Amino acid sequence: MRQWRAFKKQHPDCVLFFRMGDFYECFGADAERLAPALGLTLTKRGSPIPMAGVPHHQKDRYLRDAIRQGFRVAVCDQIQDPKDAKGVVDRAVTQVVTPGTLVDEGLLPGDDAARLAGVAFTDQDRAGAAVVELSTGALEVIDTDPSSLADELARRRVGEILWCAADDDSTPERIERLLRATGASGTPRASWHFRPDEAAEAVRTHYAVATLAGLGIQDADPSTWALGVVLRYLAETQAVGRTPARATSGSDNQSRPVTLAHVGPPRREDRSGLCRLDATSLRALEVDRTIQSGAIDGSLLGVFLAGQTGPRCVMRTPMGRRLIREWLCAPLSDVAAIQDRQGAVATLVDDPTLAAALGERLDDVADVARIAGRLALGRATPRDLVGLGVSLGQLGAVVDVLRQADAFGRHRAALLGVADALAPVARAIAERCVDSPPAHLREGGLIRDGVDPELDEARSLHRDAGQWLARYQTRLVGAYDLPSLKVGYNKVFGYYIELPSAQARRAPPELTRKQTLKNAERYITPELKEFENKVTSAEARALDRERALFDDLCAQAAGVVGAVTLFAETIAELDVLAGLASKAKHRGWVRPEITGEPVLDIHAGRHPVLDELLESGFVPNDCALGTASDPAGLALITGPNMAGKSTYIRQTALLCLLASVGSFVPADGATIGVCDRIFTRVGADDAIHRGQSTFMVEMIETAGILNHATPRSLVVLDEIGRGTSTLDGLSLAWAVTEYLATRGDARAGDAPPGPRTLFATHYHELTDLEDRLPGRVRNLHVAVREWNDEAGRPGVVFLHQIRPGRTDRSYGIHVARLAGVPDAVTDRADELLEALSVEHARQADAVRTAPAGPTDDQLGLFTQYLDHPVVERLREVKLDALTPLQAFDLLRTLRQEADTTP
Ligand code: ADP
Ligand code: MG
Repeated sequence: MRQWRAFKKQHPDCVLFFRMGDFYECFGADAERLAPALGLTLTKRGSPIPMAGVPHHQKDRYLRDAIRQGFRVAVCDQIQDPKDAKGVVDRAVTQVVTPGTLVDEGLLPGDDAARLAGVAFTDQDRAGAAVVELSTGALEVIDTDPSSLADELARRRVGEILWCAADDDSTPERIERLLRATGASGTPRASWHFRPDEAAEAVRTHYAVATLAGLGIQDADPSTWALGVVLRYLAETQAVGRTPARATSGSDNQSRPVTLAHVGPPRREDRSGLCRLDATSLRALEVDRTIQSGAIDGSLLGVFLAGQTGPRCVMRTPMGRRLIREWLCAPLSDVAAIQDRQGAVATLVDDPTLAAALGERLDDVADVARIAGRLALGRATPRDLVGLGVSLGQLGAVVDVLRQADAFGRHRAALLGVADALAPVARAIAERCVDSPPAHLREGGLIRDGVDPELDEARSLHRDAGQWLARYQTRLVGAYDLPSLKVGYNKVFGYYIELPSAQARRAPPELTRKQTLKNAERYITPELKEFENKVTSAEARALDRERALFDDLCAQAAGVVGAVTLFAETIAELDVLAGLASKAKHRGWVRPEITGEPVLDIHAGRHPVLDELLESGFVPNDCALGTASDPAGLALITGPNMAGKSTYIRQTALLCLLASVGSFVPADGATIGVCDRIFTRVGADDAIHRGQSTFMVEMIETAGILNHATPRSLVVLDEIGRGTSTLDGLSLAWAVTEYLATRGDARAGDAPPGPRTLFATHYHELTDLEDRLPGRVRNLHVAVREWNDEAGRPGVVFLHQIRPGRTDRSYGIHVARLAGVPDAVTDRADELLEALSVEHARQADAVRTAPAGPTDDQLGLFTQYLDHPVVERLREVKLDALTPLQAFDLLRTLRQEADTTP
């Protein structure tokens, strides 16, 4: 317990997994918190200390559950063979497992990235972050303004954020907001970690450099401080420098010291070539998960990964499955870069033989990016090593396959660049290791026969034991004339000679009794004992030898970890390009024409997700914004509920996104001008905000669009202005539309064009804007067919077809009827609607008749009141001369006048 307490003190914020024999035990409060969370039995061992344990071979499963539920776990292993221990066996914390630092295969599914970020802020309100994916070593620094930080981290799916602890233990408001927006768990770190000099020191130590200049980062950047914090944290949690324990430790594979060698120099994303997608748009467009369930299936990513590894998944490697997500979340805005990817996809679409050959090679590549990470961290397994060997062995074949394809020149060059470094490693692994290695090295079996004479000799002794025993038995049976004598072996007692009890009397004196069973006696002889020693030590020698050879290969591989990472990146890209091609081929997608002009022209476009899911068939639709025949940059889409408005505008955004990624698109043809940003906003009372919705949120988001959208942006608005009263909402929606269509200058005929905008709305009044802002605003509606049922009641059929022009009805009551609302209610609603419509038309007219755009006459709507006597009186009041009491009296008289003068 003293040992336990000491470790607990070093890691107070962690639950301690304390290795005892075959179990990891938790004690005290740890046990009490963990037992119910993981479904463990809570026991007490002779003392009042509660305790709960997990079998050591199931450690990963329980760790995964614990991390998912927000625990941090320090794994405390035995680092000494209990046989050698005098008193309590030596232990050490070999790893701290946190949500952002998962590496082991059992803890981290291949398609999921666990990323860790440090965040830092300057006094001048600049923000910086360093984001690391420990499993692959990918590291990135980001400097930005604090308001964009959440978007940057959300896009990268950061799971854990390190932030500077305050003196009073509180969590600053902006950190709380960051954690909420990203869904990451927060880990406060002592403030000295964030001091520029301390941080720089940690960075210099990690990269073994004297100055930061060579790394392309600056002392004064907050991202540099964040980087130092992250590197220090990794060194601490991964027990860098420690040699992983053998014998009974958790990681009984490699025994080289832990390093972070695979964590390469920080990269900085070139944001100038990217189309920005903020966190809200990512969520609203369901790019990498659905809003409802958070699952991949049903999202845009799910179109490529459906079932993860099933037949509908078009990526062949875990690296490709991770990269396609990154590409979808960070589309490009550079025409040439997009066309470069398109060229590669097109080559594969046009050449099925090439695609098939490449696919076959990719199928044989393991998750080398993560294997590289585990090699550096000293946690590679025999299977990792062999997987690496096989994967690296594909390099030559991949280069060969791509030889004729110009579009892959860059990839070929990258592979050739690392070929010389990787070939010897691949060869060494292939030569020395068996094809199907064991999961761990505890019982050996990794190294082939014939590789190492010492290992072969030790093994043959062991292997020949059976023959020796058989010969020995025959000899004894003959010598003693005891036909029932047997020589045997068991794990606990070792080798023995066995006689049935009935013949035990006749046992010769040189047999020493060892054990008595119910019907038999067991003996040992000096000769057998000697043989036993020889075999056991041969076994141990063989195992030692295997470990040494394994370590050697791991060291060799770890020595080229940079080249392995480059190889992994190239393979990931090839996999994604091949996956995009396969999708295009199988679903009949076409190559969009990419241009720098702000146009959007889609023929018979389909929603990439619904097109695959809807069995009844998806109805394709066109979309044109800013084209020669349809110059308007803003389209207003009206139509009844459930008609397909939301689907249509999202579909358009998704097609733009896909095109910007370099993918083909589900359409008959498309010309797409690159976007600098894609904005998507959904009205507050849609399910998307799930309860936390307020009209305020909606307006903050709208403000963001109005302030940041440029003529190169794409804006998709779904029912904005709904979260408030009808008139407020209509007025806001009206003004927002005017602003977007004309960059805020509705009266000037030659105002610069606004962003390409699709606005689905239930405010039919807005459709007037088409006449007021000709060439700027265009009306579209979703067609429905009206019909009457047998009882003569009106009904609708949704055609899901987008057509030019407006609708003037919502068909809400029709929909209610379809949904089975009782006739009494729908009939009464029809009556009420008629009455209310008259009043509504009067109000809406007031909005309609307001002049287009802002005017000098700011009161607009209220001009009718300007010559009211009360207003006259108000104008005359001398405010500075009034006492509070006089002011109150005045207010009272004004009120009386207002009541009496209509
Ligand atoms: P709205 O926003 O107009 O209320 P939605 O876009 O939510 O309507 O569409 C409602 C449903 O109609 C969708 O869930 C989908 O099942 C179906 N739908 C929409 N567009 C199409 C289409 N083009 N083809 C086939 N079904 C469609
Ligand atoms: Mg809708």
